[in-house]
Amino acid sequence: PGVTIILRDFEDFDNDVVGTARSFSSSSSSSSSSPVVVISDSPPYPPLPFPEEGVRVVVLRRDLRFSPVLNDPRLFLRTRHVAIVPDRTRNPGVVGLLEKLRDTVEQSGGATRVAVAGVTEGGSPTFSLRCFHLHVDPRRWTLRYTADTGDTGGRCGAVESSRVVLLLRTRDLLSLPFPFSRPFPDAIFIQAALRGWGVQILGGGDYFPAVPLPPLNPHAAWKAQNLREKRREKLMKDLGVKLEVFEGGKERWFGCNRDTPRCFGTIQEGTPQYLLEGRWTPPCCLRGLRETAKHVVGVLESSGVRYWLEGGSLLGALRLGDIIPWDYDVDLGFYREDAGKCRWLREAEEEGGRRGGVEDDEGFVWEKAPQGEGGVYRVYWSRTNRLHVDLWPFYPRDGGVMTRDEWTGHPQDVEFPEIFLRPRIPLPFAGFTAMSPNNPRKFLQLKFGEGAIEKPQYPNP
Ligand code: ZN
Repeated sequence: PGVTIILRDFEDFDNDVVGTARSFSSSSSSSSSSPVVVISDSPPYPPLPFPEEGVRVVVLRRDLRFSPVLNDPRLFLRTRHVAIVPDRTRNPGVVGLLEKLRDTVEQSGGATRVAVAGVTEGGSPTFSLRCFHLHVDPRRWTLRYTADTGDTGGRCGAVESSRVVLLLRTRDLLSLPFPFSRPFPDAIFIQAALRGWGVQILGGGDYFPAVPLPPLNPHAAWKAQNLREKRREKLMKDLGVKLEVFEGGKERWFGCNRDTPRCFGTIQEGTPQYLLEGRWTPPCCLRGLRETAKHVVGVLESSGVRYWLEGGSLLGALRLGDIIPWDYDVDLGFYREDAGKCRWLREAEEEGGRRGGVEDDEGFVWEKAPQGEGGVYRVYWSRTNRLHVDLWPFYPRDGGVMTRDEWTGHPQDVEFPEIFLRPRIPLPFAGFTAMSPNNPRKFLQLKFGEGAIEKPQYPNP
């Protein structure tokens, strides 16, 4: 029985862990006391003076000299419930708030797995926590927070404030893959939302008191802010989140951008690594692909190069007017005889097989692939981020058939009648309009076989 207090979210250089622990620990004179476990990444420095019994410090970082059991907080969480408590919080004692939180979980018939109470210094009768819905979409590497519409009876996915006490069953906490990841409480809310766990805010205006934070000196404030951001980035990396979308549409990105390498490595046998991990193209990469495709199409159109959506990109355009959500590049075909009309295709060609390519005025890199890659031209998002659009050079041979000098060996990489390009037609794609073969359905049937549009299939299934 009982509740173990977990203190986890504090800074080494500025904290009230000793005061907070003392307020809850069994050596305190308060009527309601609990075991306290302080969890720290590395040995607290400066050291925390704990004279009290009932307070245990667990350091997660392993030490060459000692058994790793010392670094496992699980061994010290021996009560049925745990409460994760922010630094500077005080035990309200006689009010029995921990018991109320526990009852919220235990009397919910399983509907509530996490009970939440606010922590506040002043405490006003109007004190309340704001609730959000939280949708976790691991396949799209995305978190989405939306306003609570009041239809869930006080149950929510996340609360606005980070100054909250969370109570849950110890068993539940320890079933999470990242039970002690910071920052709290977000790390718990995200993992709980994915599992469909109910999160319930304690009603009745109850809250935990706290002692005020003495003003930080500017350097400490900067350091604390910096650490918070680093931890959030680390958490998102661990959880596989590359995009957070907040109420009102504000976004926060954690994935690749134009100045960093792309999120996935070289594609082996047509299957990107993320597909094997049950995920689709990272949203940052889709964004880079859309931006590059839009740029390339703009350049080709203004230089009079006749191009068209090819392969998977045409498939995506017909299915959803966008890149297929698990695709890793964009494919366009073009008339080889038009290449001379476009300065960047010309320069890429002249540069020949030398790797490196030609950077255009807007930082995109044009390159002619060496022999053996189907004669393709590639346009990269940047020199650093190798997300790219493939440009396949076709030419008409006798009999009105579009052909190439080199093929990739993919089943869909085949000749087709030129009549599909006379005329080309506009299609919405990836946020702009791109040209497509006329009768695109028939074109795709020719390339992929019957039913390819209706039945989405992973590459190389
Ligand atoms: Zn990315």
